[in-house]
Amino acid sequence: GERQPTNLNALADEYLRLAYQGFRAKDKLFNCELVTHFDLTLPTADVVPQEIGRVLLNLFNNAFYAVLQNQKTVRANYQPTPTVSLSTQRSESGIEIRIKDNGTGIPESIKAKIFQPFFTTKPTGEGTGLGLSLSYDIVTKGHNGSLLVESQTGQGTQFVLQLPAKS
Ligand code: ADP
Ligand code: MG
Repeated sequence: GERQPTNLNALADEYLRLAYQGFRAKDKLFNCELVTHFDLTLPTADVVPQEIGRVLLNLFNNAFYAVLQNQKTVRANYQPTPTVSLSTQRSESGIEIRIKDNGTGIPESIKAKIFQPFFTTKPTGEGTGLGLSLSYDIVTKGHNGSLLVESQTGQGTQFVLQLPAKS
């Protein structure tokens, strides 16, 4: 794919909804609150839309999986409303996209491994363990950006995707 000036607000919103539809198609009872905040002054980014789209799709799929998993495992009375949030904002380096869920969270013991190829905690058929390692390469090597994670077991997870603005 070719790099092109891209509106990441639109791209991220599109993939958020695409991922949600995918989960709803598999599980008609799955209901998740989607919270969005878009910085309308966000600079354009020079990216390969298909590649960044793939990164976003993987981050959203992971987020929905985590809230769904949380619903299945947390005791009924303590279930938070499943929520996936997307927000964009300008940053010093350009563009920042935050994808946050209130799902299972990532245990401290595995945090260091999640970006490794083939690392997965999902059953066979549900995960390959390639999503985050591929995403990391696309973002850092392919687009000169960064991909960071903050997570707390029982609270949820936030990924921060940073990309340079188009110069
Ligand atoms: P896969 O989704 O195929 O397992 P990934 O590379 O996308 O592979 O993710 C690797 C692992 O990181 C997941 O199996 C899971 O344990 C953990 N993980 C990633 N995103 C989240 C999230 N939002 N919440 C909880 N765990 C996550
Ligand atoms: Mg994944």
